[in-house]
Amino acid sequence: MNKLELLADLHRDTERQGPGGQAETRLALQLAGLCERRDLDIADLGCGTGASTLVLAEALDARIVAVDFLEPFLDTLKARALEAGVAERITPRHASMEALNFAAESLDAIWSEGAIYNLGFARGVREWRRFLKPGGILAVSELTWLTEQRPAELDAYWRDQYPEVDTASAKLAVLEHHGYAPLGYFVLPPHCWRENYYRPLQERFPAFLKAHRNSPAARAIVEEQQQEIELYERYGEYFGYGFFIARKCGER
Ligand code: SAH
Repeated sequence: MNKLELLADLHRDTERQGPGGQAETRLALQLAGLCERRDLDIADLGCGTGASTLVLAEALDARIVAVDFLEPFLDTLKARALEAGVAERITPRHASMEALNFAAESLDAIWSEGAIYNLGFARGVREWRRFLKPGGILAVSELTWLTEQRPAELDAYWRDQYPEVDTASAKLAVLEHHGYAPLGYFVLPPHCWRENYYRPLQERFPAFLKAHRNSPAARAIVEEQQQEIELYERYGEYFGYGFFIARKCGER
């Protein structure tokens, strides 16, 4: 197995593949003003096993296309959607978010929790804009500096992992620059990292290592994840996941 396959195997049975929470997805929906609307077309990009997709399907009158490039995640999503009784509202699509083929101006909203970094924030907001109807909603969560100053070790770690890591004001400026009007921003609370994401992941480590017979590649992945968790425990006051909600506006 290559590294991506190992990562898929580590994460495939967990509820979510990044920090987040059902209440926080609902808060973003409120800020987006989508709950009262009817007959919506929505894409959930980098949906993983469907943590946000299921909340959207339960809360909205919408058809949701759930896109991910890892098929095992979509299989888990399908099973969860059936169990929750919302499968008919969700169309899983095995595709890369670098090569989306939605029709221009066809979507009422684009949702993407903890996944736009794979394209890079600026590229994602720029490229996805054309799929949104005028006034359409973009809602994304993204690694964000919470303060202007931070320890050098932390700064170096995240800059290396994700060169576009930045403050909320800088992210909002990127949205404005690319033709969006920001509607809301909030920070995911710590339980979205600890209880919802890191703890289930850590509980999965022993079975994952056993299944891969403690291979060096599997151990390296667990060590990388542990390093990230330790960094969060030490420096969590300086960084978080920002949830950004914006409306497409103007000509471009
Ligand atoms: N939204 C989910 C998953 C976040 S993890 C949640 O909040 O739990 C990021 C997701 O993006 C993973 O499921 C990964 O498979 C997917 N992904 C990464 N690069 C991608 C790409 N180029 N195209 C489509 N999906 C991608």
